[in-house]
Amino acid sequence: MSQLKSYLEDPFLYKLYEEIRRAGSLRSISVDLTSECNLRCKGCYYFEEGMDKITIPDEKDFDDFIEREKSRGTNFVTIVGGEPSMVIPRVKKIYNNFNCNVATNGLIKIPYEGLENLPIGVSIWGNQETDSSMRANGKRDLFGEALTNYKEDPRAFWYYAVAPGYANEIEEVVTTCVNNGNRVLFNYYSDLTGLGGKHDYREGFDEVRKEIDRMIEMYPDKILMTSYFNKVISTGELLGEKWGYDVCTNLSTDYKENQERLEEGNLFNPHFRAYNADFSTTRRCCTGVDRSCDSCFDTWEHFSWVMVNLKKHLGSKEDFANWLTTMYLFYFINGLLNK
Ligand code: SF4
Ligand code: SF4
Repeated sequence: MSQLKSYLEDPFLYKLYEEIRRAGSLRSISVDLTSECNLRCKGCYYFEEGMDKITIPDEKDFDDFIEREKSRGTNFVTIVGGEPSMVIPRVKKIYNNFNCNVATNGLIKIPYEGLENLPIGVSIWGNQETDSSMRANGKRDLFGEALTNYKEDPRAFWYYAVAPGYANEIEEVVTTCVNNGNRVLFNYYSDLTGLGGKHDYREGFDEVRKEIDRMIEMYPDKILMTSYFNKVISTGELLGEKWGYDVCTNLSTDYKENQERLEEGNLFNPHFRAYNADFSTTRRCCTGVDRSCDSCFDTWEHFSWVMVNLKKHLGSKEDFANWLTTMYLFYFINGLLNK
């Protein structure tokens, strides 16, 4: 690792690297805290793949799950669902035992008390009109409600899923979020219900990528994205590797159907498991049971892809800086630095 040593002679890179090193390595999982949701968005991976068809456990099962994961050494939990804000006592239990973040649709405000430093990703799919039409048949101003719930809330960042044909809305949406006192992380819409046209991921994300890059320049301290990372997700390319199941790093390592892939030799996150809402069974990955990986543009999974691939990024100082800033971004978003 002599290259690493030489890159770290740069005081700025050294500072970032040291902050991450002090925060420590992550042993992460994801868990569906509930199988219920107060919305039915078009193209939600959760309901598209029937992940809600699960036997509802009792609270003791949840407490046992927490203890099992603590003894397994888990130190970071991505809380998903279903809608986690519908089960706040469970969110608190995870928060009290692990580093974590939570994904919410923003309709129920997650209270401050007892969750003061919880990173909250509030999902949004477009401007008020687009978001409402895709998530509430145009009948409810979901974006407006979430803006009110998270106004000036330092815990909240917007997790903005953009479809290929909606690049023209990005500036308006980002400006609204920034004026609300929040930061923005991007996601890329997958169109799992086959809406087609402007929603179809097969149209490519070139225009979306350009617009996100422009937002990074326009609001450098508000966009939780680097140009490099934007490119990796939107093109599915990482230094010669092409995104897909064979290189995906966030696969449940105890899931039988993944064993062949895990033995192939490509890197993966050795601790990771995506738990269902029964708090015991796992599935292939956080975002899928048997969906096509071609449709996967999930930002968190791509974070892992970059983060696990340090060696690949040691070929030049620029590649290393791209790896390091992506790592830093992940740790920053999740409140892991300077704890
Ligand atoms: S809010 Fe989230 S979990 Fe609920 S239906 Fe929409 S995408 Fe799915
Ligand atoms: S859907 Fe995405 S996260 Fe799941 S296995 Fe495929 S590439 Fe990985």
